[in-house]
Amino acid sequence: MKVLLINPRGFCAGVDRAINIVEQALSLAGAPVYVRHELVHNRFVVDNFRKKGVIFVESLDQVPDGGLVIFSAHGTAASVVAEAKRRGLRVVDATCPLVTKVHIEMLAYSRDNREVVLIGHRGHPEVIGTTGQYDAPDGAVYLVETVADAEGLEVERPERLAYVTQTTLSVDDTREIIAVLKARFPEIKGPSKDDICYATQNRQNAIREAAPKCDLILVVGSANSSNSNRLCEIAEKAGVPAHLIDGPAEIDPAWLKDVKTLGISAGASAPESLVQSVVARLQHECACDLDEQGGVREHVTFKLPVELRRMMAESA
Ligand code: SF4
Repeated sequence: MKVLLINPRGFCAGVDRAINIVEQALSLAGAPVYVRHELVHNRFVVDNFRKKGVIFVESLDQVPDGGLVIFSAHGTAASVVAEAKRRGLRVVDATCPLVTKVHIEMLAYSRDNREVVLIGHRGHPEVIGTTGQYDAPDGAVYLVETVADAEGLEVERPERLAYVTQTTLSVDDTREIIAVLKARFPEIKGPSKDDICYATQNRQNAIREAAPKCDLILVVGSANSSNSNRLCEIAEKAGVPAHLIDGPAEIDPAWLKDVKTLGISAGASAPESLVQSVVARLQHECACDLDEQGGVREHVTFKLPVELRRMMAESA
Protein backbone atom coordinates (compact mmCIF):
# COMPACT_ATOMS: atom_id res chain seq x y z
CA MET A 1 0.00 0.00 0.00
CA LYS A 2 1.21 3.47 -0.84
CA VAL A 3 0.80 5.94 2.05
CA LEU A 4 0.71 9.63 1.17
CA LEU A 5 1.57 11.88 4.12
CA ILE A 6 -0.35 15.01 3.18
CA ASN A 7 1.22 18.40 3.85
CA PRO A 8 0.72 20.72 5.58
CA ARG A 9 -0.91 18.79 8.42
CA GLY A 10 -1.10 18.91 12.20
CA PHE A 11 -0.22 21.71 14.60
CA CYS A 12 -0.81 25.31 13.55
CA ALA A 13 0.91 28.32 15.09
CA GLY A 14 -2.04 29.03 17.43
CA VAL A 15 -2.04 25.51 18.89
CA ASP A 16 1.74 25.47 19.16
CA ARG A 17 1.59 28.73 21.08
CA ALA A 18 -1.23 27.56 23.40
CA ILE A 19 0.70 24.39 24.31
CA ASN A 20 3.88 26.38 24.88
CA ILE A 21 1.94 28.78 27.15
CA VAL A 22 0.68 25.96 29.41
CA GLU A 23 4.09 24.29 29.54
CA GLN A 24 5.76 27.58 30.51
CA ALA A 25 3.05 28.34 33.07
CA LEU A 26 3.49 24.91 34.68
CA SER A 27 7.22 25.33 34.92
CA LEU A 28 6.98 28.91 36.29
CA ALA A 29 4.03 28.58 38.69
CA GLY A 30 3.93 24.81 39.31
CA ALA A 31 0.81 22.64 39.38
CA PRO A 32 -2.05 23.05 39.54
CA VAL A 33 -2.64 25.35 36.62
CA TYR A 34 -6.28 25.81 35.62
CA VAL A 35 -7.30 25.91 31.96
CA ARG A 36 -10.76 27.13 31.07
CA HIS A 37 -12.20 24.71 28.51
CA GLU A 38 -10.02 22.18 26.65
CA LEU A 39 -6.91 24.16 25.70
CA VAL A 40 -7.13 22.77 22.16
CA HIS A 41 -9.55 20.13 20.90
CA ASN A 42 -7.31 17.10 21.09
CA ARG A 43 -7.81 14.28 23.59
CA PHE A 44 -4.14 13.24 23.63
CA VAL A 45 -2.92 16.79 24.33
CA VAL A 46 -5.52 17.36 27.05
CA ASP A 47 -4.86 13.97 28.76
CA ASN A 48 -1.13 14.64 28.73
CA PHE A 49 -1.58 17.98 30.45
CA ARG A 50 -3.94 16.41 33.03
CA LYS A 51 -1.11 14.06 33.99
CA LYS A 52 1.17 17.08 34.50
CA GLY A 53 -1.24 18.78 36.91
CA VAL A 54 -3.46 20.87 34.67
CA ILE A 55 -7.08 21.08 35.84
CA PHE A 56 -9.53 21.75 33.01
CA VAL A 57 -12.63 23.69 34.08
CA GLU A 58 -15.68 25.00 32.27
CA SER A 59 -16.46 27.77 34.77
CA LEU A 60 -14.33 30.19 36.76
CA ASP A 61 -16.27 29.09 39.88
CA GLN A 62 -14.08 25.99 39.75
CA VAL A 63 -10.90 28.10 40.09
CA PRO A 64 -9.93 28.93 43.69
CA ASP A 65 -9.05 32.50 44.69
CA GLY A 66 -5.45 33.27 43.77
CA GLY A 67 -5.39 30.47 41.14
CA LEU A 68 -3.66 30.79 37.80
CA VAL A 69 -6.10 30.34 34.92
CA ILE A 70 -5.34 30.05 31.22
CA PHE A 71 -7.99 30.82 28.62
CA SER A 72 -8.11 28.30 25.77
CA ALA A 73 -7.00 28.95 22.18
CA HIS A 74 -10.64 29.25 21.06
CA GLY A 75 -11.17 32.61 22.76
CA THR A 76 -13.29 33.71 25.70
CA ALA A 77 -16.32 35.98 26.09
CA ALA A 78 -15.62 39.46 27.46
CA SER A 79 -17.86 38.72 30.48
CA VAL A 80 -15.58 35.84 31.53
CA VAL A 81 -12.48 38.03 31.23
CA ALA A 82 -14.24 40.66 33.37
CA GLU A 83 -15.23 38.04 35.94
CA ALA A 84 -11.63 36.82 36.23
CA LYS A 85 -10.51 40.42 36.73
CA ARG A 86 -13.18 41.08 39.35
CA ARG A 87 -12.02 38.01 41.28
CA GLY A 88 -8.38 39.02 41.01
CA LEU A 89 -7.40 35.72 39.38
CA ARG A 90 -4.03 35.43 37.68
CA VAL A 91 -4.85 35.08 33.97
CA VAL A 92 -2.85 34.09 30.92
CA ASP A 93 -4.80 34.32 27.69
CA ALA A 94 -3.94 31.60 25.13
CA THR A 95 -6.55 32.82 22.62
CA CYS A 96 -5.06 32.42 19.14
CA PRO A 97 -4.21 35.87 17.76
CA LEU A 98 -6.22 35.03 14.63
CA VAL A 99 -9.30 34.51 16.81
CA THR A 100 -8.53 37.77 18.63
CA LYS A 101 -8.58 39.47 15.21
CA VAL A 102 -12.19 38.28 14.76
CA HIS A 103 -13.02 39.51 18.30
CA ILE A 104 -11.73 42.95 17.34
CA GLU A 105 -13.89 42.96 14.19
CA MET A 106 -16.97 41.92 16.20
CA LEU A 107 -16.35 44.66 18.75
CA ALA A 108 -15.77 47.30 16.06
CA TYR A 109 -18.97 46.39 14.18
CA SER A 110 -21.05 46.43 17.35
CA ARG A 111 -19.61 49.79 18.40
CA ASP A 112 -20.46 51.05 14.90
CA ASN A 113 -24.05 50.24 15.87
CA ARG A 114 -24.33 47.32 13.49
CA GLU A 115 -26.04 43.99 13.89
CA VAL A 116 -23.66 41.12 13.14
CA VAL A 117 -24.10 37.80 11.37
CA LEU A 118 -21.66 35.26 12.79
CA ILE A 119 -21.04 32.36 10.40
CA GLY A 120 -20.07 29.40 12.58
CA HIS A 121 -21.11 26.27 14.43
CA ARG A 122 -23.62 26.59 17.26
CA GLY A 123 -22.15 25.74 20.65
CA HIS A 124 -18.51 25.79 19.52
CA PRO A 125 -16.42 27.63 22.14
CA GLU A 126 -14.99 29.97 19.51
CA VAL A 127 -18.51 31.00 18.50
CA ILE A 128 -19.47 31.55 22.16
CA GLY A 129 -16.32 33.63 22.72
CA THR A 130 -16.80 35.73 19.57
CA THR A 131 -20.50 36.34 20.29
CA GLY A 132 -19.42 37.42 23.74
CA GLN A 133 -17.49 40.39 22.30
CA TYR A 134 -20.68 42.04 21.00
CA ASP A 135 -21.12 45.33 22.75
CA ALA A 136 -24.11 47.18 21.21
CA PRO A 137 -26.94 47.93 23.63
CA ASP A 138 -29.87 47.05 21.36
CA GLY A 139 -28.44 45.08 18.43
CA ALA A 140 -28.18 41.38 17.84
CA VAL A 141 -25.79 38.65 16.74
CA TYR A 142 -27.36 36.21 14.28
CA LEU A 143 -25.75 32.78 14.04
CA VAL A 144 -25.75 31.31 10.54
CA GLU A 145 -24.50 27.74 10.02
CA THR A 146 -25.70 26.86 6.52
CA VAL A 147 -26.76 28.33 3.18
CA ALA A 148 -30.37 27.57 4.18
CA ASP A 149 -29.90 29.63 7.37
CA ALA A 150 -28.58 32.54 5.28
CA GLU A 151 -31.50 32.24 2.87
CA GLY A 152 -34.04 32.35 5.70
CA LEU A 153 -32.32 35.00 7.84
CA GLU A 154 -34.45 37.93 9.01
CA VAL A 155 -32.67 40.90 10.59
CA GLU A 156 -33.90 44.09 12.25
CA ARG A 157 -31.65 46.57 10.42
CA PRO A 158 -30.44 45.28 7.02
CA GLU A 159 -28.86 48.67 6.31
CA ARG A 160 -26.63 48.32 9.41
CA LEU A 161 -25.42 44.74 9.07
CA ALA A 162 -21.98 43.11 9.14
CA TYR A 163 -20.61 39.57 9.17
CA VAL A 164 -17.67 37.73 10.68
CA THR A 165 -16.76 34.04 10.51
CA GLN A 166 -15.38 31.31 12.73
CA THR A 167 -11.73 30.58 11.82
CA THR A 168 -12.03 26.83 11.19
CA LEU A 169 -14.92 26.55 8.73
CA SER A 170 -15.04 24.93 5.31
CA VAL A 171 -13.74 27.53 2.85
CA ASP A 172 -16.19 26.42 0.13
CA ASP A 173 -19.30 26.37 2.35
CA THR A 174 -18.43 29.75 3.82
CA ARG A 175 -17.94 31.30 0.39
CA GLU A 176 -21.46 30.15 -0.58
CA ILE A 177 -22.98 31.50 2.65
CA ILE A 178 -21.29 34.89 2.19
CA ALA A 179 -22.54 35.06 -1.42
CA VAL A 180 -26.13 34.52 -0.22
CA LEU A 181 -25.77 37.16 2.50
CA LYS A 182 -24.35 39.70 0.03
CA ALA A 183 -27.16 39.02 -2.45
CA ARG A 184 -29.85 39.38 0.21
CA PHE A 185 -28.29 42.28 2.15
CA PRO A 186 -26.31 44.37 -0.36
CA GLU A 187 -25.17 46.83 2.31
CA ILE A 188 -23.63 44.16 4.53
CA LYS A 189 -20.05 44.90 5.64
CA GLY A 190 -17.44 42.23 6.21
CA PRO A 191 -13.71 41.65 6.49
CA SER A 192 -11.75 42.14 3.23
CA LYS A 193 -11.74 38.33 3.00
CA ASP A 194 -13.34 35.76 5.30
CA ASP A 195 -11.77 35.09 8.72
CA ILE A 196 -10.88 31.45 8.01
CA CYS A 197 -7.29 31.13 9.16
CA TYR A 198 -4.26 30.25 7.05
CA ALA A 199 -3.85 26.82 8.74
CA THR A 200 -7.44 25.78 8.05
CA GLN A 201 -7.17 26.90 4.42
CA ASN A 202 -3.82 25.22 3.81
CA ARG A 203 -4.94 21.87 5.29
CA GLN A 204 -8.17 21.95 3.31
CA ASN A 205 -6.34 22.78 0.05
CA ALA A 206 -3.85 19.97 0.66
CA ILE A 207 -6.62 17.39 1.20
CA ARG A 208 -8.47 18.60 -1.89
CA GLU A 209 -5.31 18.21 -3.95
CA ALA A 210 -4.42 14.78 -2.58
CA ALA A 211 -7.92 13.28 -2.72
CA PRO A 212 -7.91 12.26 -6.42
CA LYS A 213 -4.80 10.14 -5.78
CA CYS A 214 -6.27 8.32 -2.74
CA ASP A 215 -8.67 5.40 -2.20
CA LEU A 216 -9.08 6.32 1.47
CA ILE A 217 -8.06 9.23 3.72
CA LEU A 218 -7.44 9.06 7.47
CA VAL A 219 -7.53 12.34 9.37
CA VAL A 220 -5.87 12.30 12.78
CA GLY A 221 -7.88 14.49 15.13
CA SER A 222 -10.48 14.42 17.88
CA ALA A 223 -14.22 14.27 17.31
CA ASN A 224 -14.75 17.77 18.76
CA SER A 225 -12.11 19.38 16.53
CA SER A 226 -13.91 21.59 14.01
CA ASN A 227 -11.06 21.86 11.51
CA SER A 228 -10.39 18.07 11.60
CA ASN A 229 -14.05 17.33 10.84
CA ARG A 230 -13.93 19.75 7.91
CA LEU A 231 -10.94 17.83 6.46
CA CYS A 232 -12.97 14.58 6.46
CA GLU A 233 -15.91 16.36 4.84
CA ILE A 234 -13.70 17.75 2.06
CA ALA A 235 -12.28 14.30 1.28
CA GLU A 236 -15.78 12.83 1.21
CA LYS A 237 -17.05 15.65 -1.03
CA ALA A 238 -14.22 14.75 -3.41
CA GLY A 239 -15.60 11.21 -3.49
CA VAL A 240 -12.99 9.60 -1.21
CA PRO A 241 -14.06 7.79 1.98
CA ALA A 242 -12.48 9.36 5.06
CA HIS A 243 -12.30 8.54 8.76
CA LEU A 244 -11.45 10.78 11.70
CA ILE A 245 -9.28 8.89 14.19
CA ASP A 246 -7.85 9.92 17.54
CA GLY A 247 -4.93 7.55 17.12
CA PRO A 248 -3.72 4.17 15.78
CA ALA A 249 -6.03 2.08 17.97
CA GLU A 250 -9.05 3.42 16.09
CA ILE A 251 -8.00 2.06 12.68
CA ASP A 252 -10.38 -0.66 11.57
CA PRO A 253 -8.39 -3.11 9.38
CA ALA A 254 -11.52 -3.63 7.26
CA TRP A 255 -11.17 -0.04 6.00
CA LEU A 256 -7.85 -0.94 4.36
CA LYS A 257 -9.16 -3.83 2.27
CA ASP A 258 -8.46 -3.11 -1.43
CA VAL A 259 -6.89 0.27 -0.60
CA LYS A 260 -3.88 0.84 -2.84
CA THR A 261 -3.22 4.46 -1.89
CA LEU A 262 -4.01 5.82 1.56
CA GLY A 263 -3.78 9.53 2.40
CA ILE A 264 -3.03 10.67 5.97
CA SER A 265 -3.64 14.18 7.25
CA ALA A 266 -4.08 15.68 10.71
CA GLY A 267 -6.14 18.54 12.10
CA ALA A 268 -4.50 21.68 13.45
CA SER A 269 -4.67 20.42 17.05
CA ALA A 270 -3.28 16.91 16.43
CA PRO A 271 0.37 16.26 17.32
CA GLU A 272 2.73 14.75 14.74
CA SER A 273 3.59 11.99 17.24
CA LEU A 274 0.05 10.63 16.73
CA VAL A 275 0.50 10.65 12.95
CA GLN A 276 3.74 8.72 13.39
CA SER A 277 1.99 6.15 15.65
CA VAL A 278 -0.64 5.69 12.95
CA VAL A 279 2.12 5.14 10.38
CA ALA A 280 3.88 2.69 12.74
CA ARG A 281 0.72 0.61 13.09
CA LEU A 282 0.18 0.54 9.33
CA GLN A 283 3.78 -0.52 8.75
CA HIS A 284 3.36 -3.24 11.35
CA GLU A 285 0.31 -4.63 9.57
CA CYS A 286 1.25 -4.36 5.92
CA ALA A 287 4.01 -3.42 3.53
CA CYS A 288 3.79 0.38 3.17
CA ASP A 289 5.57 2.65 0.80
CA LEU A 290 5.65 6.07 2.53
CA ASP A 291 5.50 9.21 0.43
CA GLU A 292 5.88 12.54 2.27
CA GLN A 293 4.01 14.99 0.03
CA GLY A 294 5.23 18.48 -0.73
CA GLY A 295 2.93 21.35 0.14
CA VAL A 296 2.77 24.95 1.26
CA ARG A 297 5.45 25.70 3.84
CA GLU A 298 4.09 27.56 6.85
CA HIS A 299 6.25 30.12 8.63
CA VAL A 300 3.64 31.71 10.92
CA THR A 301 4.64 32.15 14.55
CA PHE A 302 3.01 34.15 17.34
CA LYS A 303 4.57 35.89 20.33
CA LEU A 304 3.74 34.61 23.81
CA PRO A 305 1.17 36.75 25.66
CA VAL A 306 2.47 39.71 27.61
CA GLU A 307 1.28 38.29 30.99
CA LEU A 308 3.43 35.21 30.49
CA ARG A 309 6.43 37.18 29.28
CA ARG A 310 6.12 39.25 32.46
CA MET A 311 6.06 36.09 34.59
CA MET A 312 9.13 34.81 32.76
CA ALA A 313 10.98 38.09 33.29
CA GLU A 314 10.11 38.12 37.00
CA SER A 315 11.42 34.60 37.51
CA ALA A 316 14.66 35.22 35.58
FE1 SF4 B 1 -5.39 29.88 15.27
FE2 SF4 B 1 -6.21 28.80 12.98
FE3 SF4 B 1 -4.85 27.36 14.68
FE4 SF4 B 1 -7.35 28.08 15.29
S1 SF4 B 1 -6.70 26.71 13.64
S2 SF4 B 1 -5.59 28.11 16.65
S3 SF4 B 1 -7.39 30.14 14.35
S4 SF4 B 1 -4.08 29.20 13.59
